[in-house]
Amino acid sequence: MQSFEWIDATSVDLAAQLLAATSPDAPVVAKAGGIDLLDLMKEGIIAPARVINLKSIPGLDRIRFADAEGLELGTLVTLAQIATSPEIRARYRALADAAGHASTPQIRNAATIGGNLLQRPRCGYFRHEHFHDVDDVDQYLRSGENQYHAIFDNSRCAMVHASTPATALVAYNAHVELCGPNGRQRTVPLREFFLPPELRRDNDTVIESSEVLTRVIVPPPAPGTRAAYHKQTERDSYDWPICDVAVVLSMDGAPSPGGSETTRTRIGSASVVMGWVAPTPRRALASERLLTGQNISEELARSAARAAVADATPLSKNAYKVPVLEAVVRRTILAAAGA
Ligand SMILES: Cc1cc2nc3c(=O)[nH]c(=O)nc-3n(C[C@H](O)[C@H](O)[C@H](O)COP(=O)(O)OP(=O)(O)OC[C@H]3O[C@@H](n4cnc5c(N)ncnc54)[C@H](O)[C@@H]3O)c2cc1C
Repeated sequence: MQSFEWIDATSVDLAAQLLAATSPDAPVVAKAGGIDLLDLMKEGIIAPARVINLKSIPGLDRIRFADAEGLELGTLVTLAQIATSPEIRARYRALADAAGHASTPQIRNAATIGGNLLQRPRCGYFRHEHFHDVDDVDQYLRSGENQYHAIFDNSRCAMVHASTPATALVAYNAHVELCGPNGRQRTVPLREFFLPPELRRDNDTVIESSEVLTRVIVPPPAPGTRAAYHKQTERDSYDWPICDVAVVLSMDGAPSPGGSETTRTRIGSASVVMGWVAPTPRRALASERLLTGQNISEELARSAARAAVADATPLSKNAYKVPVLEAVVRRTILAAAGA
């Protein structure tokens, strides 16, 4: 690994100004927990001249909840904090579960939510020193080891986005705040944040090289919101997923006779998001349409799960993901509804 200059940023604006000086000859990168950054450097994918440490910026590690604004996560909040926050678990259960099932306890203690959303794909070809050029990756994986790759939207490139908390955050319709130099600031819905590979290959998101991701904002849950998350792995110990699914349902209608708030069975609106099956977290729009306005039942969940995988286009070695995903969507819908 080549040597680099380390700078502790003391403010977001300073970090953005330092990042704006990046150039192909002297790349400047941000560092949060450093988990993915260090991997990318060790794997020879990036060789920064300067590393800007964001952890020295005060105030970016706060979790706040307000009834009107919802949940605000500073970019330096760790996955462990999200998984163990009683407030997040009570109001955004799918997010707490997604953070709690990501990677290992050691990594969750260091990994930040901002860095997690900005990590690069885990494709074995992209990460391998012989295949670093993203434009070449596709030709190798199409006839090669594509077991863990995309089963949707994979005609141009089949790498999947790595973040599993992103699956839950997209289901909750979260937004991210991006700050550039001179106080420039914008808020982007996470549903528009991740870029499909046909639009851009050198980056997976709309963030510009001079921008710092400062906050993740999750809207307040609507009354009657119920949610569930499931990460399906090959083994029970830590592993990357075959797929993960987050379901957020807003239940309405009358409670069943003699029942309480939690026995409402009619789905007012549904958000079903699937991760690790497409280059970006993918909403199962056909399932959402089928669920909305209906009373939850085993048969409804089965139809919605069937609809979620109807347009899958698996590759030579990952057709097995289709029935796995269908089962996980069905079970996660039922878990969210409490059925
Ligand atoms: C064994 C293993 C298993 C794993 N399993 C999972 C899993 O199941 N699910 C999952 O989601 N992840 C998993 N990961 C990935 C891990 O969670 C991520 O690498 C980690 O979350 C990245 O966060 P970080 O804070 O360390 O980011 P960093 O490595 O510091 O940064 C990541 C990238 O984002 C940029 N960056 C960071 N913060 C900002 C910011 N605020 N503004 C602008 N740019 C920024 C950096 O320049 C870098 O390019 C796993 C990793 C390992 C090693």
